[in-house]
Amino acid sequence: VEYKSEVKPTWCPGCGDYGVLAAFIRALGEMKIPTHKLSIVSGIGCSSRFPHFVRGYNLHTVHGRALPVALGVKIANPEIEVFVVGGDGDGFAIGGGHIPHVARRNPDMVYIILDNAIYGLTKGQVSPTSTLTMTTTTTPYGAIEPPINPVMLLLAYGATFVARGFSSNTKQLTQLIIEATRHKGFAAIHVISPCPTFNMEITFDFVREKVVEIPPEHDPTNKLKAFELAMAQDKIYTGIFYREERPTFESNLEKIISKFDGAIDEAVKKERLEKLFDQFA
Ligand code: SF4
Repeated sequence: VEYKSEVKPTWCPGCGDYGVLAAFIRALGEMKIPTHKLSIVSGIGCSSRFPHFVRGYNLHTVHGRALPVALGVKIANPEIEVFVVGGDGDGFAIGGGHIPHVARRNPDMVYIILDNAIYGLTKGQVSPTSTLTMTTTTTPYGAIEPPINPVMLLLAYGATFVARGFSSNTKQLTQLIIEATRHKGFAAIHVISPCPTFNMEITFDFVREKVVEIPPEHDPTNKLKAFELAMAQDKIYTGIFYREERPTFESNLEKIISKFDGAIDEAVKKERLEKLFDQFA
């Protein structure tokens, strides 16, 4: 299957996002997902251009709103493999309110967060993952806020699969995308994907020096240990922090809808379904 679309990536030379795209395409190839069963949904930002470069029923939506749109895609057709791709600003600033709710609903989809710790598309403003004192176009004297910790947030919100990768380690990232796709539930992968154009602090060399793979003896069902790894200050752990089995949103929804079958006439069933879906409006 040819997964690359006819649109060539428009990222700056050297952008970390190329590595993520390469890993993603390799993972699709290994899993042999047919393009008619693939949907990549994104918000706005450099990494949110992703859906243009891969063949599928993709949606480039509005800033911070990729997750609810993706949930709609999954509800409309649970057979579709849904991937959400976006950056740290899109996901943790304007879209930050959606993550806890999607995580607790646990739809069977994969969320890949490409974290460059800056707003690249709009030329270098401070983002929720920019480091304290980082100089950006909006913090000329240094950022005065410490960064959020994406992996800790995802764990706390109840995501049932939480991993971290690095855009330069495409071999590991390919495997993480495959594992996340096979996981039944909301799987989030935080990917450190440096921006060599605007971020002069979180550079490839800076990340390379700190990146360490999670030791093989780590038990990914141990949430406390996962938090401990996520809190490390001197190291950036990559690999699978946590996974748990929990009923998916689609299966819970299916159970409710099945109660409408049988004796109820079609008009009542329609009315009940409309009320049910109003919850997600
Ligand atoms: Fe990549 Fe940064 Fe260029 Fe955006 S601005 S394409 S993140 S290198």
